[in-house]
Amino acid sequence: MAIKEYRLKKKRLFLLDIDGTVCKGKQLIGGAKELLQEIRQSGGKFVFVTNNATKSIHDYKETFKELGIETDDTNFVTASYVTIRYLKKNYKNQVIYVLGTESLIQELKQHQIKVTTDCRRKDIACVLVSYDNQLTYQKIQDTCELLATRKVDYIATNPDYTCPIEFGYVPDCGSICEMIEHAVKKKPYYIGKPETAIVDTAIRLNEFSKEETLVVGDRLYTDILCGKRAGVDTALVLTGESTLEESKKCEYRPDYIFDSVAGLYKEWR
Ligand SMILES: [Mg+2]
Repeated sequence: MAIKEYRLKKKRLFLLDIDGTVCKGKQLIGGAKELLQEIRQSGGKFVFVTNNATKSIHDYKETFKELGIETDDTNFVTASYVTIRYLKKNYKNQVIYVLGTESLIQELKQHQIKVTTDCRRKDIACVLVSYDNQLTYQKIQDTCELLATRKVDYIATNPDYTCPIEFGYVPDCGSICEMIEHAVKKKPYYIGKPETAIVDTAIRLNEFSKEETLVVGDRLYTDILCGKRAGVDTALVLTGESTLEESKKCEYRPDYIFDSVAGLYKEWR
């Protein structure tokens, strides 16, 4: 058996991206269910590591339940989860202005983070921008006003430009931030992948080594780069954004490439 195949067979902790990797919109990608079941049955663990901050972990558990997959809190490390940890560590009891979904705002509040959507408040310490499918022009304008006229920190949940849905793609957090950047000439510090916080956290919370861990995703500049930076093997699946052509030209090449999670399942099991 080739070394690469041997290394793959040893994997026990699977850090799986969601959109474009195991799901497309509200549907599971073929092979995902079999892979997740086999990981569990063989004593391994899967953790969904997603940059998608529109949904809370509670929302995700419901979504996967509808798809026939039982999960608990330990099966998720999301960009919003690591953002919450970051805010708690760096902005204890300070006010955070949020451009994001109602679901994200509720999740932040549940974790005792002081949140506002009122840009006129004088005590705002930091602006947080996220994917927002309830985005309005007023929110954009308010965020620009804050960033242009006040000394506030600026962070964002994830740098993704697009998010895959049933018909194709819609703009994600990175695109919203670029729109703002054109107006105010400021870039945020991005918390999600390819920063390693999500992967580092998922490994720390589970009892597997880096050698036993595999990062699986559909995007080179977030998923694969994140795995590389974290020192973990990576697998690219071609069911989302990045293509085989792009992966060949890319400076951070994935360790494995599969047409889909079904291919990964076949090779690994
Ligand atoms: Mg993805």
